[in-house]
Amino acid sequence: MKFEYYLLFNDQIVCEGVILSMYKNKISIIGTGYVGLVTGVCLSDFGNTIINVDIDEEKIKKLNEGIVPIYEAGLEEIMKRNVEAGRINFTTDIESAIKESEVIFIAVGTPPDEDGKADLSAVLSVAETIGKNINGYKVIVNKSTVPIGTGRRVAAEIQDQMAKRAVNYDFDVVSNPEFLREGKAVHDFMHPERIVIGTDSEKAKEILTEVYRSLYLNNTPFVFTNLETAEMIKYACNAFLATKISFINEISILCEKVGADVQKVSLAMGLDSRIGSKFLHPGPGYGGSCFPKDTRALVKIADEYGVDLKIVKGAIEANERQKYHMVEKIESHLVELKGKKIGILGLSFKPDTDDMRESPSLTIIPELIKKGATITAFDPAAIKEAVWRLKEYEKDIVYCANEYEVMKGVDALVILTEWNQFRRLDLRRVRNLMKGDYFFDLRNIYEKKEIENAGLKYVGVGLPERKEDLDYEKKQTTIESGL
Ligand code: NAD
Repeated sequence: MKFEYYLLFNDQIVCEGVILSMYKNKISIIGTGYVGLVTGVCLSDFGNTIINVDIDEEKIKKLNEGIVPIYEAGLEEIMKRNVEAGRINFTTDIESAIKESEVIFIAVGTPPDEDGKADLSAVLSVAETIGKNINGYKVIVNKSTVPIGTGRRVAAEIQDQMAKRAVNYDFDVVSNPEFLREGKAVHDFMHPERIVIGTDSEKAKEILTEVYRSLYLNNTPFVFTNLETAEMIKYACNAFLATKISFINEISILCEKVGADVQKVSLAMGLDSRIGSKFLHPGPGYGGSCFPKDTRALVKIADEYGVDLKIVKGAIEANERQKYHMVEKIESHLVELKGKKIGILGLSFKPDTDDMRESPSLTIIPELIKKGATITAFDPAAIKEAVWRLKEYEKDIVYCANEYEVMKGVDALVILTEWNQFRRLDLRRVRNLMKGDYFFDLRNIYEKKEIENAGLKYVGVGLPERKEDLDYEKKQTTIESGL
């Protein structure tokens, strides 16, 4: 949202422009990954002056050459425009960035450690560096997803470092969790459903309201709360969404057994405004950098407080099972996987991103290979990622230049990620290219009929598909009609 202004003199426009942020001091974003880069670029587009920092020299070098290291629609264009306007720059010099800025966002990774707990080493290392370099009042804004209590630990670390230097500057720590979706990150940042600001400090609240001024004036709901509540909100949201997906995936397994159609179940459920239709689509399980790690981390946090989060644990377990259920589904139809050639469409955990962190493909492809299959695969953005993540299986995977190359001579085709370009395949061409005739649509993006009309056998998720299921359906109808 931008606010246009016009200065009039004798009814003539003498000056016009766009008022964006009213915040005039510099802002540093430490960590220039998915969240940090999108935050930096979008905040600069709101009119703020941004220093994006990362320890990864290669990444910063690329950004300084105008190359965006991640695949995110619209990002490169907005970045270019703000680099040209001098509102954003990229550096590895974290010390200077801290000294020059009043607001410092922390957006480094919090990957799971071997126990599933969030690894806070990067967040705490940034806090240490802030403490070593703080030279005046700062607002430290945590955008990384962190366990409840981390904001206080960040404050304590900064205080410790200042004590060692025998200085004592005023500072505030704020929790400002990020809710953007990869693939739609720019849109989500520019049009958020809410901004959560967790702090006890009125001064920090006012500064952040200025930083997000364009959103504030645009009536985006702002939730002001304390640090702990803001940190909890992020985990509660992700755990709820993951649970919703696992719920419909479990229902889909039952649908397959009883001859029900999960698509209709999901449609009717979603029409209930108390439930809502989003995140109610069955598939091969959720993945990505957030849901798997945040659900596991939440369970660990709860364990530490003696709280048994049974529902979240169930969602995690159901998600793991779903990936294996997909392999069993493919195996049961092909009778055996040994010697079979399987074409895979989509490798990223969802469309419009090259992110493969915890993608279902990283479980499903190795399982198919272990059972004796070989793979041809294509993804519009994630092949580079797949090559190193699936390195162990490289001799059994051929990466293809496009979706049709994948299909040549395969026994079965599997849609793993619902990229738009896989939604309108030339089905006659598909049939002609394939050796076998099984079409596994693990995202339910096709109608059974259209696939069958092309001479292929359709297998979706949560749909009646087996003879015994159809028999069951027939039996039910007979019972209902009293025959
Ligand atoms: P990422 O791995 O893409 O990026 C993290 C970046 O931080 C990397 O570029 C890394 O080099 C850099 N870094 C690590 N240590 C550093 C240090 N000491 N100083 C400077 N830079 C450092 O991670 P991400 O996906 O952007 O996630 C960041 C945080 O945001 C995580 O806590 C994540 O859970 C959360 N989050 C992610 C998403 C998402 O969709 N990816 C959405 C909401 C929240």
